[in-house]
Amino acid sequence: LAAHYAALKDLPAVTKDGVRIELTANIGTHMDVDNALTYGAEGVGLFRSEFVFMGSTTIPTEEDQFKAYRAAVEKCGGHICVIRTMDIGGDKPLPYLNIDPEENPFLGYRALRISLDRHDLFLPQIKAILRAGLYGKAAMMVPMVISVSEIQRVQKLVEQAKVELTHEGKEYSDDVQVGIMVETPAAAVVSPLLSQYVDFFSIGTNDLIQYTLAVDRGNAQIAHLYNPFNPAVLRLIQRTIQSARERGIWAGMCGEMASDPYAAVILLGMGITELSMSAPSIPRVKEMIRSVTSTQAKELLADVMKMEHGVEIRAYLHKMLEGSD
Ligand code: PEP
Ligand code: MG
Repeated sequence: LAAHYAALKDLPAVTKDGVRIELTANIGTHMDVDNALTYGAEGVGLFRSEFVFMGSTTIPTEEDQFKAYRAAVEKCGGHICVIRTMDIGGDKPLPYLNIDPEENPFLGYRALRISLDRHDLFLPQIKAILRAGLYGKAAMMVPMVISVSEIQRVQKLVEQAKVELTHEGKEYSDDVQVGIMVETPAAAVVSPLLSQYVDFFSIGTNDLIQYTLAVDRGNAQIAHLYNPFNPAVLRLIQRTIQSARERGIWAGMCGEMASDPYAAVILLGMGITELSMSAPSIPRVKEMIRSVTSTQAKELLADVMKMEHGVEIRAYLHKMLEGSD
């Protein structure tokens, strides 16, 4: 099996009728990039930068961050490297920020909400990403967006970061794409509005499923309710991809769902163009994509969108696609 997957490494993720999907990796440190490339990753779709913060006992400086991001961007070669701005809070506490304990951390002071509140944290991070952009194809992605006004504030801060870098005589890239994670139901619902302000969407299903279904992503007792194929979840995902396509921006996915070969077919049918996952999942997903046509994917999608139960949808895909991967 290992040899079989190794043979796939340099083959593109393309359907039998020529639709190309980019398969990228989720990483926590620049040291993960080399390993990801051995699985055939075409760059990084999610660099969880909070690990740069969690691996330090104090706030990492702009310079520390620049070094980490630059290393990852360089290792990606000409491929994209999507750096997510820090996603602290929720399930990822950070002792040195001294955030008060909360009743509902997943609904609390986390991620972009902290960044927009703490420019002393956010501006150095933005600057580090813009500077790393000189060494390859970097993109910046913000987590936990719920509204247009947040993106407008991010855009102002990106402009401010550029002005400051110019004053400081530091070089940076002017073509770093700025995108958002769509991981709240609000973002998916207003995706036609959000699409006007960003270069891409990346769907974060780990959180999107938990918030849409009100099911804690880590609670084993209700894990049976946590179903990516739940019709409500599928509709939000489809809406998001549709909004991106209508605006001519790209849509990808970086939640766990992207590593499910059956899901990949449905997402392909919806028009997604990038899937980011833990590197070892890449060969299986690639094999599935290479075994179907986009017409087949669209037909399966049409069938699935008529179904009423997530469990039924999963079973149907299993029946139709079993043996194709
Ligand atoms: C997600 O929510 O789907 C995601 C990719 O982010 P994280 O798992 O880091 O919350
Ligand atoms: Mg998330």
